[in-house]
Amino acid sequence: MTGIDDLPVRDELRGKSPYGAPQLDVPVRLNTNENPYPLPDALVERIVERVREAARNLNRYPDRDAVELRTELAKYLTKTGKYAVGLQNVWAANGSNEVIQQLLQTFGGPGRTAIGFEPSYSMHGLISRGTGTGWISGPRNEDFTIDRAASERAIAENRPDVVFITTPNNPTGNAVPAETVLALYEAAQAAKPSMVVVDEAYIEFSHGESLLPLLEGRPNLVVSRTMSKAFGAAGLRLGYLAAHPAVVDAVQLVRLPYHLSAVAQATALAALEHTDTLLKYVEQLKTERDRLVLELRAIGFDVTESDANFVQFGRFDGENGSHEAWQKILDRGVLVRDNGVPGWLRVSAGTPAENDAFLDAVRELKKEQS
Ligand code: PMP
Repeated sequence: MTGIDDLPVRDELRGKSPYGAPQLDVPVRLNTNENPYPLPDALVERIVERVREAARNLNRYPDRDAVELRTELAKYLTKTGKYAVGLQNVWAANGSNEVIQQLLQTFGGPGRTAIGFEPSYSMHGLISRGTGTGWISGPRNEDFTIDRAASERAIAENRPDVVFITTPNNPTGNAVPAETVLALYEAAQAAKPSMVVVDEAYIEFSHGESLLPLLEGRPNLVVSRTMSKAFGAAGLRLGYLAAHPAVVDAVQLVRLPYHLSAVAQATALAALEHTDTLLKYVEQLKTERDRLVLELRAIGFDVTESDANFVQFGRFDGENGSHEAWQKILDRGVLVRDNGVPGWLRVSAGTPAENDAFLDAVRELKKEQS
């Protein structure tokens, strides 16, 4: 049987595995930080209307520059981010994964490197590899906060071209203070200069605020966002960034022509019309997230502070401890995430009923262990 390694694939892809959160058919799925609430009926109707209009014109290529969509995204950011941005500051693509890919194609690539502070979002490293960008795994403290001095040193020593800072961080859940981001930005500029990408995929769930205002006077800073989490639209595949207009011009050097389909643009515009309703679900999820933190601690787990729509909990001793716990929770019908952080698992905040099912499962697990 011919396998991947029998093909003339690029050397850096040999022996590697694809990104693969299991998609299993179980009653309670709390493993990919999705929003558990289906879109409200009024929004579904509006999507149908907008897509019907778009469908009439599918013989034509979509608006290549997604002007209407970027304008509406800019309005959303301005309204919620305490910083005014316009069309020229915003770029959109198929999920923030594609935004990150375009940034790495533009500012990384062969002979260049990117750094992230791990554990963090694994796709930063995987997309780096996919774009031929060398990946550097930067340090983090035992409690998963970023060690500022050690990170500054790592940037000074490695002189990366791209620096990823995920806040709130995935899979750990904790936010990065603005002062740390500023210090790392300064370190990155002194070392190279390089682009600093602040991945705010979960920012709407934070107790704190977006770092958008840091864009002022910092042309090498990028804030990346997504409609997959707060807008409850993971299936839509719509991510975006805010940055200096020169960054928006630069990523257009690598984007595929017409990368954002007319159907996706129409759907995203419909969702943006319903922002207020969707953000109410975010408030419910924040309450549920805080409840998960409290209850998990009451059960006796260690829990990392969370500013996201998920919670990291542990600890599970032994070489395979977290994986065995993951399996036992799955045996009780609840799918959580084993991100490969030794001793820890991650659970996404679901509906109150889903969270109750999860808490029952881990309560039983704890009893079994003690
Ligand atoms: N950034 C972070 C930190 C994430 O956790 C995710 C999704 N899990 C993404 C980006 C990508 O999201 P999407 O491509 O759905 O916008």
